[in-house]
Amino acid sequence: MSNQRTRALDIVQRRTTDRVFAPADKISDFFADDVFTIDKMKSTLAPDTFKRVEHAIKKGKKIDLDTANEVASAVKTWAIAKGTTHYTHWFQPLTGATAEKHDSFFNAQKGLEIFRGNELIQQEPDASSFPNGGIRSTFEARGYTAWDPSSPIFIWGRTLCIPTIFVSYTGEALDFKAPLLKAVEAVDKAATKVCQFFDRNVNSVNASLGCEQEYFVIDRALYNARPDLVMSGRTVFGHHPARGQQLDDHYFGAIPSRVYNYMKDFEIECLKLGIPVSTRHNEVAPSQFEVAPIFEDINVATDHNSLMMDVMERVAERHDLKVLFHEKPFAGLNGSGKHNNWSLITSSGVNVFQPSSSARENLQFLTFLVNTIKAIYDNAGLLRASIASAGNDHRLGANEAPPAIMSVFLGSELNAVLDELENNGNIKVDKGDNMYMKLGIDKIPQIILDNTDRNRTSPFAFTGNKFEFRAVGSEQNVAEPMTVLNLIMANQLKNFHLEVSDRIEKGEDKKLAIVNVLREYIKESKAIRFEGDGYSEEWEKEAEKRKLPNVKNTARALDAYVSKEAKAIFEAFQVMAPHELEARNEIQLENYIMKLQIEGRLISELARTQVIPAAIKFQSKLIQNAKGLADLKIDNSHTKGILEKINSHIQVIQKNVDEMNVKRGEINELADTRDRAIAYCDEVKGKYFDVIREAVDKLEVMIDDEDWPLLKYREMLFLR
Ligand code: ADP
Ligand code: MG
Repeated sequence: MSNQRTRALDIVQRRTTDRVFAPADKISDFFADDVFTIDKMKSTLAPDTFKRVEHAIKKGKKIDLDTANEVASAVKTWAIAKGTTHYTHWFQPLTGATAEKHDSFFNAQKGLEIFRGNELIQQEPDASSFPNGGIRSTFEARGYTAWDPSSPIFIWGRTLCIPTIFVSYTGEALDFKAPLLKAVEAVDKAATKVCQFFDRNVNSVNASLGCEQEYFVIDRALYNARPDLVMSGRTVFGHHPARGQQLDDHYFGAIPSRVYNYMKDFEIECLKLGIPVSTRHNEVAPSQFEVAPIFEDINVATDHNSLMMDVMERVAERHDLKVLFHEKPFAGLNGSGKHNNWSLITSSGVNVFQPSSSARENLQFLTFLVNTIKAIYDNAGLLRASIASAGNDHRLGANEAPPAIMSVFLGSELNAVLDELENNGNIKVDKGDNMYMKLGIDKIPQIILDNTDRNRTSPFAFTGNKFEFRAVGSEQNVAEPMTVLNLIMANQLKNFHLEVSDRIEKGEDKKLAIVNVLREYIKESKAIRFEGDGYSEEWEKEAEKRKLPNVKNTARALDAYVSKEAKAIFEAFQVMAPHELEARNEIQLENYIMKLQIEGRLISELARTQVIPAAIKFQSKLIQNAKGLADLKIDNSHTKGILEKINSHIQVIQKNVDEMNVKRGEINELADTRDRAIAYCDEVKGKYFDVIREAVDKLEVMIDDEDWPLLKYREMLFLR
């Protein structure tokens, strides 16, 4: 017997483990070695050049060409000394992957290595083949990348990488980063104004992000022997292993040595790139793991997450491993997410989500807490859209959680504080008296410190001094949900500032005005707060009663991006114009359709060319057996029974595959993209994927193991 499956298993048996050694014992000896850090800038640039660059970074301002020339020269010297030959503008187009186009420093005409300011500031990749959603007609198919000095330049391999944003010549964003930078600026402005109610000295507010990245790792030979993993990132067939995650013995268990060495290796690469990876552990499912860097400024954290995923993919090759970022590579096992830990930190170093022992800061804490809840409540659909993808649909609203319902978890203690504020709405507080005590606001610090109760089923949870957006998909570029979150927060804070200022103008005391507006918000947004089991059926029912949106698929969730309300918010803060949102909507729908198209083709091909032939082969053996038994006058009803069962599964597969393909043909003809996406969702995925899979998976556990062509779950997931 020799098929792809057994050959792959043979290869894996012969793998050995290479130990990995760090370049130095202490991390501080090599941390950010491959980054042109602020410190390196300072030591290589003339003092006033450095000051101009530093100012531009802090204020998000443009850098003039003279300054850029000096930076370029310093960067080039540093990079060449480190063995670099090429440079690239590094960007994050809407394909979801990162992109780069390498140019050599070497100039043949001059016979020298050259790198000038204009090459640092701007590059023109051949942009026509990146998705643009119809923004650029072919005759104007030009886009350029522009240096983003707020994210540090780094060396990866032998290439100098310059973080950039990608925009069209007419100014539209063609990537994930450009809108994020604008949303972060918007929240900075709005939050700063609100903070000034409490502290006049605050002059900026920075959004921070720490991403916990979940992923699966399997042997490369095994990966290559599963065409579905290679082509779509997930297994379209595969029976649950006899032992899945029910023993819970993998979570936080000892990390298998091959994976351990892989982790160590990619962590070293990350650390050299200045990515502050700090946590690693096993996850719930077999072969599932998590890595988390320490939180950083949101812009840098976003770049670092994309870069880390690249690094993880490339380093996996050295170890003959494959890292899977898909949200649901294996049915029936835990999926992968990317928890986005988010907070806002003022220029005075105060985290606005950190309850404090000072009553004044506590009112600020409550202000931001309640405004966040209100923003999520008012924009639940948009937030849901920001995490919509074909992959994440297998987590959100599928039989596993988190559900597609956006809700906010606060913990019982904090919830009680808000309830009290709402319930004692009639308590009159006056300027002079101890309002904080009267309203129970003074007690918050002790409460939070004691609150260790964490609800793991909530898509958006308050976790002590930050919010954790857990419904984000593992494969996704976090810039998208972070753009939406910061934008809706900016919008909310702006409204809050207006309302409070209005009341103050009418003569109300500032603190009272704040408390009174908060009380209103608490009442209005109450429906979004949920403390119970977010995975339960009761919650779905309860959420429906509360009229919370529960959009289970991407095809429909994406509507929220092009709603009147969304367009108004995006436009008001100049994050994206309506036609940019339309374009993005189109790109995402197309992307979704393509993913389902690929899966449909794979299901059809694997069923016809691998599964059914294997089933028929086994049937032939059974037929021989049945005939032989009959010749010998021995009861063959058992064999015939198996034959019939196999036959019925084959028929189910054949019939449904044929029907699905006809349907796909019809749907491909639909002119409207949204219609096509919905038809793919309901008529192809919804009607056929599971039915076909069920029959295939049943065959997997009936057919002679020798004849089964596809690697089984237990073989992919439990090998060490
Ligand atoms: P968990 O228990 O969910 O694993 P951790 O305490 O390990 O949580 O933190 C997870 C992530 O949250 C890390 O990336 C961490 O740096 C980040 N984090 C901690 N504090 C903040 C904060 N104030 N703002 C943003 N992220 C934060
Ligand atoms: Mg977490």
